[in-house]
Amino acid sequence: MHEHVFVLSPDSQRQWQNDWDEDARVADAVARLQVLVDSGVQTIVDPTVDGLGRDIPRIAGINEQVPGLHVIVATGVYTYADVPGYFSSRGPGALPDLPEPMVDLFVRDIEVGIQGTEVRAAFLKCAIDHHGLTRGVERVMRACAQAQRRTGVPLMVHTHPGKQTGLDVQKVLAGEAVPPSAVLLAHSGDSADADHLQQLADAGFLLGMDRFGIDTILDFEGRVGVVAELCRRGYAASMVLSQDAACHIDWVDPELLPFLPNWTYLHVQRDVVPALLERGVTQDQVDQMLVGNPRRFFES
Ligand SMILES: [Zn+2]
Repeated sequence: MHEHVFVLSPDSQRQWQNDWDEDARVADAVARLQVLVDSGVQTIVDPTVDGLGRDIPRIAGINEQVPGLHVIVATGVYTYADVPGYFSSRGPGALPDLPEPMVDLFVRDIEVGIQGTEVRAAFLKCAIDHHGLTRGVERVMRACAQAQRRTGVPLMVHTHPGKQTGLDVQKVLAGEAVPPSAVLLAHSGDSADADHLQQLADAGFLLGMDRFGIDTILDFEGRVGVVAELCRRGYAASMVLSQDAACHIDWVDPELLPFLPNWTYLHVQRDVVPALLERGVTQDQVDQMLVGNPRRFFES
């Protein structure tokens, strides 16, 4: 429900990274995604948008070589602080009363196609991290909300549960009349605070327990434990499981990756699901979190 093919910084990459080999990276991605398909996965949801190096022609070319896989792609803007420079003096960035140009751009991605392709975005994506609701974050979130209202596609919001930014999302989206059932609060699983997560689930949001393998933020026991606890409390219908992994991410120094040995596409099925079953979660609840809840999210 939350995996990337690539997370890249195209501008910085062009300035500093002299060793990018397009053919080798594409071949590596095809091989890694094929392993995922061979393990039984049919669909991944890839929330890579502006700010994360979205390149849909490249993803479509890779996907053609992995015919058993559906890659569901997104539109939106990923920022924790300011809008991208491109938008800084357009629309309300230039004059407060001007309409927000992001809304039409997002709707075009959803209804027509992305970057000149016929590949359409199936959901929206924005972010709020520990900096909270900055002007730029709020501008993007409201643009996503308005595109959600116009198209009906769901919205994924990167959140920081330690700072309880899901509550900011709740406030802004309520003001834009977006139903919480159409909203996934990504990275909820970075917190072991079951009471706070229950509060967000009670508000109607879907919770992304979606960073299994990033054990430096919350370790394996913490991540598994909070999912098992919320299942015990009756919230299996409110969670999805994922890893936020990628074939290649240029945000992380390659020398640090050995410290994240579980951060792979296969961690949930190999390690997390057995651990959940050991802790009393049922196979039905696992299926609900991996299949039923994602399906409901996109059908809503
Ligand atoms: Zn992600």
